[in-house]
Amino acid sequence: MLSALAELKISPDEIDYIILTHIHIDHAGGTGTALRDMPWATVLAHGQALRHLIDPAKLWEASLKTLGDLALQYGRIEPVPEDRLAAATDLMTVELGGGLVLEVHLTPGHAAHHLSLFDRQNVVLIAGEAAGVCVNGAVRMATPPPLKLEETLSSIDRLISLEPETICYSHFGCYGGAVGRLRMARSKLLAWHETADAAAREGRDPEEILRLLRSEDRDLDYLDTLSKDAYRREHDLLVNTIAGLSQSARQDG
Ligand SMILES: [Zn+2]
Repeated sequence: MLSALAELKISPDEIDYIILTHIHIDHAGGTGTALRDMPWATVLAHGQALRHLIDPAKLWEASLKTLGDLALQYGRIEPVPEDRLAAATDLMTVELGGGLVLEVHLTPGHAAHHLSLFDRQNVVLIAGEAAGVCVNGAVRMATPPPLKLEETLSSIDRLISLEPETICYSHFGCYGGAVGRLRMARSKLLAWHETADAAAREGRDPEEILRLLRSEDRDLDYLDTLSKDAYRREHDLLVNTIAGLSQSARQDG
């Protein structure tokens, strides 16, 4: 982030806000560290997430449990001082100067404390992970347990109702045709859920379910283009996504 700012010739002490779509380690783990270079920045995050930023012990434990070695690669999470934090509330607006205004839209699903940002004037949606993860144009879902399917679908519907033109994925990049991409994410979530849930009820393990999803969704061919390390990371995150998608089968069975 700091090197990206340097490329843009923006000094870290000009930063007013760090807005977190959610507090998973790959999004928010470096916040406390970054603040040391950004003396005037306020951190905005969902109200329920604030205490975990102030005291990241639980967040670190959960990251280690879910991500294992990957969490160690990110490194320990430094706390965020309480006086640097503010709660982001639904529909609040953040003025960034130069006429740029971002609206906060709470979009629980990928995480209970997830939010998305909408720049109404430029019709740009910063989706976070509400509409999945996009690798070179191909989209996969990101539904770690505990998955609340209805809530996740409602969040996507809400983003569709904003009628964005451009969608920016936290992972990775900005694309036109945002509403079409959101509708596609909605159908994909339903299709993946149907496949994973049915397969889990038949006693299939996550690896088998991943193979099934790969045979049904050509978007997952992106896995073949990755380096060994990137593949490992995506594989593990997909297994976690499948755990979310098949949780009700596992609970019933
Ligand atoms: Zn996340």
